Amino acid sequence: MSELPGSNLEVLLDAEQIARRVRELAAQISTDYRGRPLRLVGILKGAWVFLADLARHLNLEVTVDFLSIASYGDNSYSSGAVRITKDLDQSIEGLDVLVVEDILDTGRTFHYLEGVLSAHQPNSLKLVTLLDKVSRRLIPVRADYVGFEIPDVFVVGYGLDYHQKYRQLRDVRFLPSVPSV
Ligand code: 5GP
Ligand code: MG
Repeated sequence: MSELPGSNLEVLLDAEQIARRVRELAAQISTDYRGRPLRLVGILKGAWVFLADLARHLNLEVTVDFLSIASYGDNSYSSGAVRITKDLDQSIEGLDVLVVEDILDTGRTFHYLEGVLSAHQPNSLKLVTLLDKVSRRLIPVRADYVGFEIPDVFVVGYGLDYHQKYRQLRDVRFLPSVPSV
């Protein structure tokens, strides 16, 4: 059998490290929201793996919805212009909402989402991101919960893709050849 595509790429965060950190984040979030139902809003497609693992460690009453967004142009990095390609199925009005993201980079995507989601008048709106490339920020958005701060490298795996590939990798790995823009 041939090797799984991407398994030759260098590991930045291995599956065990990620699992440990996801449990820590879940414990923190469970404490902070204790006794309150929480609506998780996963941003597709990158966040599906993280959301699945995080949700299963939350000691809270949780409901799940998804938003799918796309950047104009199919670049490795977002071009800045973002649009919704699949809206929420259910209203978030009056709810405690936690947006679940794979990675915070320039901040444009979450800045846009924050505007769209707060217009629906949730009771509260927070963000958990697995990865944070702090050095790439163009818009000063902050995540309320961060799994790992990472350097400016292009990463794949654990939900993250390169041209739709590598999402199934259990580790977060990096593609040394993708240039920063
Ligand atoms: P932002 O709008 O914060 O610049 O970008 C966030 C989006 O850009 C992420 O949700 C992701 O889709 C994409 N992105 C940014 N950095 C990376 C990366 O290193 N790897 C992958 N696969 N996507 C990235
Ligand atoms: Mg994304």
